[in-house]
Amino acid sequence: MDIPPISKRLSGAGSKASATRRGRDALDAIVIGGGFYGCEVALELRRIGFDQIVLIEREPGLLRRASFVNQARVHGGYHYPRSYTTALKSRKNFTRFVAEYDYAVTHGLEKYYAMVRGSRVSADQFEVFCHRIGAFCRQAPREIADLFERGTLDRVFLVTELAFDSVKIRKVLEGHLRAAGIDVRLNSSAVITGTGDRFVEVSLPGETLRSRWVFNCTYAALDTVGVDLRTRIKRELTEMVLLVPPMQLEGRGITVIDGPFFSVMPFPPAGLHSLSHVRYTPHEAISGPEGSKLRPVKSNANAIVRDSARYMPCLSRARIERSIYEIKAVLIATERDDARPILAERNPGNGRILSVLGSKIDNIYEVREFLRNQTW
Ligand SMILES: Cc1cc2nc3c(=O)[nH]c(=O)nc-3n(C[C@H](O)[C@H](O)[C@H](O)COP(=O)(O)OP(=O)(O)OC[C@H]3O[C@@H](n4cnc5c(N)ncnc54)[C@H](O)[C@@H]3O)c2cc1C
Repeated sequence: MDIPPISKRLSGAGSKASATRRGRDALDAIVIGGGFYGCEVALELRRIGFDQIVLIEREPGLLRRASFVNQARVHGGYHYPRSYTTALKSRKNFTRFVAEYDYAVTHGLEKYYAMVRGSRVSADQFEVFCHRIGAFCRQAPREIADLFERGTLDRVFLVTELAFDSVKIRKVLEGHLRAAGIDVRLNSSAVITGTGDRFVEVSLPGETLRSRWVFNCTYAALDTVGVDLRTRIKRELTEMVLLVPPMQLEGRGITVIDGPFFSVMPFPPAGLHSLSHVRYTPHEAISGPEGSKLRPVKSNANAIVRDSARYMPCLSRARIERSIYEIKAVLIATERDDARPILAERNPGNGRILSVLGSKIDNIYEVREFLRNQTW
């Protein structure tokens, strides 16, 4: 990764000299949360010209939470027939993501989108929608349609959608962070404990740090690190099943939209497929600290497989390996249309604290653009 020299765009405040002038103990930036977004935000700040950056992660490694526990879909827009804005942005981001993270993307994945009886979008509407957003979509071969239970399928389309391997991304980001000289602290839970005119104070076990800027990239924990959020977020405990797919689904993924259906596709970091279900993947809404609720009392794995197999009988021959759980964070304002915008909110009490929620992996380009367009 190219790290440019300290930029003049930091209005002088980001340079080594000025950091020293402001007091030796004031860092330029603290990033709380070492998921995909925290790592990428730290690297982008470095490119912009921030000098002393500390990245704090409470897990023993980077990208262990939502950046690992997700469906690994590089969104190409198909998922969002109810939000053109998100669909169109996904189209643009897809191309950039696949080019930049080429090493982590499963090329050659055969991906299908199906509409079944009860889908809120019809096959004709889906075709028009794909055309409008400029996304490839072609009637799937008979062999794929035959995977569906007789009488359930409206139509199924071949599309261009890929999967990413978060473990490969983690390894590359670790190298970039090292090369950029970013100080990564693992096993450290951080909380914002104080603010002044020119700094924010962040406490971690055994240490209190001061920084001119703090970036809160803690996803489902966004409102638990000592900052109030104006934007309302819904947090949900989710379960995805990892399984060995039946032979008919090897190298393939199928997503059934738009309603209480399922999505099965390769999960590259485990060499398995993931299966999620609109009704059974979410367990319960969470309010209050999320750490205590990382696992439900009972797994929904059997219900997820059973209900999906009503539409695609071969799924009953899948071998369930295990379930993975995560707290999902979505903006309440987008619940009705499933839109996935980024959140980049300055703290109302202290503009030196910025909370960032990427919503989906390919939105990284919007977050980078936001950071570059600010005056620091
Ligand atoms: C079930 C599910 C399926 C999904 N499927 C997809 C998909 O197919 N495609 C897609 O693009 N997106 C998907 N997403 C969304 C995607 O996973 C997220 O947008 C993305 O991973 C968020 O990255 P992040 O870095 O913000 O969060 P995380 O990876 O969760 O990182 C936040 C980090 O902050 C740390 N942290 C929290 N509090 C503290 C603290 N006080 N101190 C220090 N560290 C702290 C956490 O340990 C964590 O590592 C899915 C999400 C879920 C839950």
